[in-house]
Amino acid sequence: MKMRGSLLLILATFLFVGCGGDKDKGDSSGILNLVATTGQVGDMLMNIGGERVRVTSLMGPGIDPHLYKASAGDVERLRRADAIFYNGHHLEAKMGEVIGEMGSRKPTLALTESLPEARLLSPNDYEGLYDPHIWFDLDLRSRTVDAVVALLGEFDPEHRDEFDSRARIYKARMGELQAYALEQFARIPKQQRVLITAHDAFNYLGRAYGLEVRGLQGISTASEAGTGDVQDLATFITERRIPALFVESSVSPRAIEAVRAAVQARGFDVQVGGEIFSDALGDKGSPAGTYLGMFRHNVDTIVSSLLGEMSHDQQ
Ligand SMILES: [Zn+2]
Repeated sequence: MKMRGSLLLILATFLFVGCGGDKDKGDSSGILNLVATTGQVGDMLMNIGGERVRVTSLMGPGIDPHLYKASAGDVERLRRADAIFYNGHHLEAKMGEVIGEMGSRKPTLALTESLPEARLLSPNDYEGLYDPHIWFDLDLRSRTVDAVVALLGEFDPEHRDEFDSRARIYKARMGELQAYALEQFARIPKQQRVLITAHDAFNYLGRAYGLEVRGLQGISTASEAGTGDVQDLATFITERRIPALFVESSVSPRAIEAVRAAVQARGFDVQVGGEIFSDALGDKGSPAGTYLGMFRHNVDTIVSSLLGEMSHDQQ
């Protein structure tokens, strides 16, 4: 009995070491430890990786990625990660250095880097950079899935098929939501199909679904809106009789309230059409706590507000 016990112990030790040695990645259970910057990026990793991954998203609800700086705890989480995933194209503008440094030590993937540049927007007033908010075009975001599957598959080739089939399901769900979004936005009369928000996060949404988009602050929230911008936007809203403008969960509502006041001073009343999500997901467990739920919430809120179908709690 004693002899058998020792053999089992030796065998177990061998298997454990063998497993760790072969994989060289992940913890002893083989589960990959992934760190994402934003909730949108983290959501993709969870959907594709399923039970094979443990995902930490550094930026929670209400956090603005343009201004976010990595805390000491974040640096430690990045240091311990098997791989790091971020949006890229300067969305995480203040994390460039730490991501660059980690990237020299471990696999690091910017989702936007897998997209052809011809599909990216480069607005005139954004210093020659590409607009990073690609997750508001479902088709474009769908095209970033394969790069994630490829990287996870390199770490864990045994489960590559599982990642592939999960990715197919995720893409199909994005495709269904794409059809829904196109159908819903088309309900708004063309003249009123205008989305006004605090910062310019929705240019891809505008291009993909036929909305005219106006943001007060530009592509990054790092630039402040001037008084002239507020007055210009107020004139535009009054002339076009735009029924609603929108606050974003990760940006202070002050600028949007200033625009509303300036519109009212011109004798027209514009409603605040509710909160939409631009650069951060909603609370965990809430409908906007996932990427697809967040996108759908935005579509429903924008469409119902611009059609004047707002419920009282949205006003
Ligand atoms: Zn943004």
